[in-house]
Amino acid sequence: MANPESIPFNKPFLTGREVDYIRQAVESGKISGDGLFTRKCHQFFTERFGFHKALLTTSCTDALEMAAILLDIREGDEVIAPSYTFVSTVNAFILRGARIVFADSAEDTPNLDHQQVEALITPRTKAIIPVHYAGMACEMDSLMALSQRYPLHIVEDAAQAIDSYYKGRPLGGIGTFGAFSFHETKNVISGEGGMLAVNKPEFDARAEIIREKGTNRSAFFRGEVDKYGWVDMGSSFLPSEIIAAFLYAQLENLAQIQQKRKALWERYFECFEPLEKAGKLQRPRIPDYATNNAHMFYLVCNSLDERSGLIAHLKSRGIMAVFHYLSLHSSKFYAEKHDGRALPRADYYTDRLLRLPLYYELDAASQERVIDAVLSFYGV
Ligand SMILES: *Cc1c(COP(=O)(O)O)cnc(C)c1O
Repeated sequence: MANPESIPFNKPFLTGREVDYIRQAVESGKISGDGLFTRKCHQFFTERFGFHKALLTTSCTDALEMAAILLDIREGDEVIAPSYTFVSTVNAFILRGARIVFADSAEDTPNLDHQQVEALITPRTKAIIPVHYAGMACEMDSLMALSQRYPLHIVEDAAQAIDSYYKGRPLGGIGTFGAFSFHETKNVISGEGGMLAVNKPEFDARAEIIREKGTNRSAFFRGEVDKYGWVDMGSSFLPSEIIAAFLYAQLENLAQIQQKRKALWERYFECFEPLEKAGKLQRPRIPDYATNNAHMFYLVCNSLDERSGLIAHLKSRGIMAVFHYLSLHSSKFYAEKHDGRALPRADYYTDRLLRLPLYYELDAASQERVIDAVLSFYGV
């Protein structure tokens, strides 16, 4: 038998208008940042999700770095973040000299356990960074209550969380800031790309300045100041119109992208129910307060060995399935700096979580091949 075509873990999806819009941007003669397509993207986010202010950036990493600068994070400050996350969540704060106090994951999701957070707060704590893993909301009411009680800020790492909600409120729009990613592995993409949602008006002016190399260029172009100059620290966080044009073509098709991804997600969820009932693995749990934006479909295996076996089994059938984060508190860079607390649930997901192929163009026959391969591994 010929080898069946292999099934990648991810495949970036083009809606069809990306190149047209890039051509329009190029022909308009303006391809640096903050042109027509950037404005269209900003407007999309403020209208569709009601975000107070949206600012495109060149990555979610940049959006997080902007948040760290805006909060004046400095040496001696502490920031609480989950250990089970991507390095950018915390690097942004490390760059400003903060110490990261890692929180463990929750009992039934990889998100940080909100019940453990309060005990980690000290007078030096400046921010908590909840990460909405797989696009499923963290328990935001209790985190927002903490942000009032001590004063500190919540920065949502909403990299995976576009079009997902907490008690009906869009993720990324609840904390002081929300940071989104349009990296090619996310639901809506521009190759590299990101956005900062600014949810408190007192940060509006400075957010624009920091994004524009510390100048008041944005206010100048709106005619609000008659000279533009250097007024603060900053960097170059804005993307070119070429990226914004690509992104806008994706945003126009958000509903269609989400519908397709959710159908694939539901199919996996339904087909693995018997395995969960038999105690062979766990499917994702969606808390009552959260929605699912089908960013990712993951399984939680019973052990590291079992997961390695399943990855190898899938690979032998041409299917690429991948594990995810390695707990940051035990990383080469941070292990020495960590305060030594064991974070068993972060380690649990490090060892056992496995992500299956899920992308717009995954056809039904290929998805059935993935499902059959998982079932056959467990002897079903
Ligand atoms: C993808 C991702 C990031 C980084 O996004 P970039 O746009 O690549 O900088 C940060 N945090 C989480 C949770 C992510 O999934």
